[in-house]
Amino acid sequence: MRAIQNFIGILVAVGLSAGPALAQGDAGPDKMEMKKIAEDVYFLENSRGSSNAVFVVTSEGVLLFDADIKTADQVLAAIRKTTDKKVRYIVTSHSAGDHATGMWVYREDKPTYISTRKQMRDLMMQEGAGFAERKASGKPQDAAYKNAEMVLPDVAFEGALTLRMGGLTFQLTEEGSAHSTSDVTLYIPQRRVFLTGDLLDTEIHPGQGESAGVFFSNVKNWLVLLDNIMARKLPVDTYIPGHGPVHVGRGVADLEEQKKYFVTMRDEVSKMIMAGKTVEQVQAEFKLPAEFAHYKRPPRLKSFLNLFYKQLQEQGF
Ligand SMILES: [Zn+2]
Repeated sequence: MRAIQNFIGILVAVGLSAGPALAQGDAGPDKMEMKKIAEDVYFLENSRGSSNAVFVVTSEGVLLFDADIKTADQVLAAIRKTTDKKVRYIVTSHSAGDHATGMWVYREDKPTYISTRKQMRDLMMQEGAGFAERKASGKPQDAAYKNAEMVLPDVAFEGALTLRMGGLTFQLTEEGSAHSTSDVTLYIPQRRVFLTGDLLDTEIHPGQGESAGVFFSNVKNWLVLLDNIMARKLPVDTYIPGHGPVHVGRGVADLEEQKKYFVTMRDEVSKMIMAGKTVEQVQAEFKLPAEFAHYKRPPRLKSFLNLFYKQLQEQGF
């Protein structure tokens, strides 16, 4: 299975020039804008659509969800402004560079970094290679890596883990492999918020997990994982996206829209396959459905059309 995914990854890499690499290489400054979305829960949105971060303040310390080394200094400054409590836990939604590289910035607080075993393996392998590549690159967009070290998780779990701190319950679930090899969500029942990581992107074309030339995203499993989360029918006011703006109080409608996006796009690609189009023709001629026309970061679409095309034939959905 891994060999097939790698093979597809090579096809993607050959077929595309302006695709997934943009996830790390977009020009322009990243500005993190803070918004309080529930009691004790603070959301930081990346101004150019790169990774968001969330922190939760309790009487016993702060829990941070996701850390990109390019923006972690801004997030740490926001935490220091909000509370005098130390960062006690860091949890990562997945092992990608824009979510799991910023631990170095928080080292003074000596947080416990929690991930899954699969994420830890990624950090030791392709994500570690990606980190080293960016550290050595000398490119302006990789400047934050220059004097940083990669930090590995202190705790690595499989399946699910419940953490209690300061009167709040943090339910971590390893949902499976969809955007990445191991996508983790975090649910806080006392605050009616559910942190999705990159299983949910809002108002933005979803990104395809990639590091050091290896590609991971699997649309079929993505639909399964979204269905799994929705089937829980949790009392949640806000699902917090890994990229894009948060829609406070919109609830499950955000997950339904994400699912509809994949189903609709897959349907359109399927019609083009039926008409005998090649993947290059699909990428060149694809007409974006009007309901998704306002989505940002259209360069990401090209790599996903390739995924829809290949996975429809490989797995049939
Ligand atoms: Zn991301």
